[in-house]
Amino acid sequence: MNFYDLQVEITTEDIYRAEGAGYQQPPQPATRELHRRMLQEAQRLVRPRGVSRTVAVAEAGERWIRLAGGGVLTSRLLARLAGPAESLVLIIVTLGEAIDRRVEEYSRHRLPAEAYVLDAAGSAFIDAAGRQLAGLITEQFQDRGLKTTISLGPGHSYWPELQDQRVIFDLLQPADLGVRVLASGLMLPKKTVSLVMGVGRDLPESAENHCHYCHLKRSCPLSRAGSGHADTHIRHDASAPGSGRPS
Ligand code: SF4
Repeated sequence: MNFYDLQVEITTEDIYRAEGAGYQQPPQPATRELHRRMLQEAQRLVRPRGVSRTVAVAEAGERWIRLAGGGVLTSRLLARLAGPAESLVLIIVTLGEAIDRRVEEYSRHRLPAEAYVLDAAGSAFIDAAGRQLAGLITEQFQDRGLKTTISLGPGHSYWPELQDQRVIFDLLQPADLGVRVLASGLMLPKKTVSLVMGVGRDLPESAENHCHYCHLKRSCPLSRAGSGHADTHIRHDASAPGSGRPS
């Protein structure tokens, strides 16, 4: 098990993006000031931390991968990209509870604009934190002569089985990070993501990131699919960092 303290930086542009706000012209001064203030507050509140563990692949089918020890992950895309992998690296990243509590406080005090922007700042932070840690772990495997797949995660359209999050949770036991899992499979704090990457020497080609495989790639504000398609943005060298999932 490896634990990570992450230094993550985002900008107000990242918050606008997480809100889905495509400003053609610069936003009003009051809007800019609100975002500047919420960014500063988010920077004080978040504590991006992560945990990872590498588990050998025991067996893979068309729609599932069984891990050594018995846990089964059920995604057709995961099986296609990481079925041939020697192992899977499982990752959980969280920002901690403080930002959730502050968003709730703003809502309770009828300050919806603050609540909305601070929540979007949290989404931008956890997205950046997930990608940062996936990139870091990818580099560590590269140093050992191993490749990784892009990172995938339960709860996206290409991996709808949210209960798989419990499988990842049970293997990582992230209670030290203050992360818990609900019966539904959702994790708390809200700004928490789980990621999975295949690790091996001979891995299939893929698109640049998981958004290319997502039904929401045209509408999701955090989509990194650009204007291309999964079959036109093939990643030959599985070295680019994966992408985190917004919560
Ligand atoms: S960030 Fe958005 S587009 Fe990308 S996989 Fe997640 S939900 Fe889909």
